[in-house]
Amino acid sequence: MAAEKMAVTRSTFDEVILPVYAPAQFVPVKGQGSRVWDQQGKEYIDFSGGIAVTALGHCHPALVDALKTQGETLWHVSNVFTNEPALRLASKLIAATFADRVFFGNSGAEANEAAFKLARYYASHKHSPYKSKIIAFHNAFHGRTLFTVSVGGQPKYSDGFGPKPADIIHVPFNDLDAVKAVIDDHTCAIVVEPIQGEGGVTPATPAFMQGLRELCDQHQALLVLDEVQSGMGRSGKLFAYEHYGVTPDIITTAKALGGGFPVSAMLTTNEIASVMAPGVHGTTYGGNPLACAIAEAALDIINTPEVLAGVNARREAFVAELKALDARFDLFSEIRGQGLLIGAALKPQHAGKARDILNAAAAEGVMVLVAGTDVLRLAPSLVIDTLDIQEGMARLGRALQQVL
Ligand SMILES: *Cc1c(COP(=O)(O)O)cnc(C)c1O
Repeated sequence: MAAEKMAVTRSTFDEVILPVYAPAQFVPVKGQGSRVWDQQGKEYIDFSGGIAVTALGHCHPALVDALKTQGETLWHVSNVFTNEPALRLASKLIAATFADRVFFGNSGAEANEAAFKLARYYASHKHSPYKSKIIAFHNAFHGRTLFTVSVGGQPKYSDGFGPKPADIIHVPFNDLDAVKAVIDDHTCAIVVEPIQGEGGVTPATPAFMQGLRELCDQHQALLVLDEVQSGMGRSGKLFAYEHYGVTPDIITTAKALGGGFPVSAMLTTNEIASVMAPGVHGTTYGGNPLACAIAEAALDIINTPEVLAGVNARREAFVAELKALDARFDLFSEIRGQGLLIGAALKPQHAGKARDILNAAAAEGVMVLVAGTDVLRLAPSLVIDTLDIQEGMARLGRALQQVL
């Protein structure tokens, strides 16, 4: 008989977890589709999607089936051996994108770390060891390793951890002239999110993205797109770069890739991959069969015309509901983003209230996100039901009434 489980509550968090998060006051214990229940049995509608991760909702039957089947077959063998789920997932990602080669990791930061190292390594091998400059953007977010917080454009995340990796320069997002002013032949890469997620749900303009591609070509630099949040159907296309008519050199993806199971990938071309050799980079869990089997099941569902078209239809429903709330409360200065990555920027008179709205929404039974202090962010399941959208928005309306 299994031992009885120890009782834990939200206050246990404050005693046992490193205090780097401030989670909501309830503890979710169960999820199904776009609904979640807490320890007290209270039900929530989930517009947060685990921060753009649970793209097929909670406990999607196809993902549960892949987890159970692979879980009873083979979990882990290390990269001393390869495995079928990793080979299948890589083949399908390649078939669906510009890429020829895949590296698997376990988190967005790890995929980005691999991308930045590859960009430097490629430039060093093909051009010169002095071609190491990385151009990145204010407010960008690329993860929490020391290299990725340093490429990220929010110094509060990288200050205080000692010397940072050098030769990284930040300029304003969507400002092509600013990039022109700093790019040169010592630049190895421009790193950019097609839609800045954590930084406020701001899409790159087409002219900016196309301009970055041209500047990279002129200076033999790589265009590295961080699609950790924008990828895997979130934007209404499998990857957001497809909206821009540009071909990147490297993309990274994570969050929705495993639908809630930790897995990430870096995708690139044969030419760029050719500088790599056994031992140059690696990670113990990368390409783990259990993770890859679940990601393969997620990709098979997300990369279909029905699901991708459904993202755009659902966006319209969300935006219409947000506009109705705006008409009632005179709240938003802009509703932005792409597909089901939605940002609703608060008007100046409501500045700083995003977190209060998140908390009031949780109390009314709807889970939402923020991006900074002034933007409400929604990243729901790509297959959320219309009824869940309506019910969640009704709850959000009651929460706004409380706060305003
Ligand atoms: C979440 C995120 C990351 C970091 O991913 P982790 O899995 O937390 O390491 C990197 N880039 C972007 C754009 C993200 O949204």
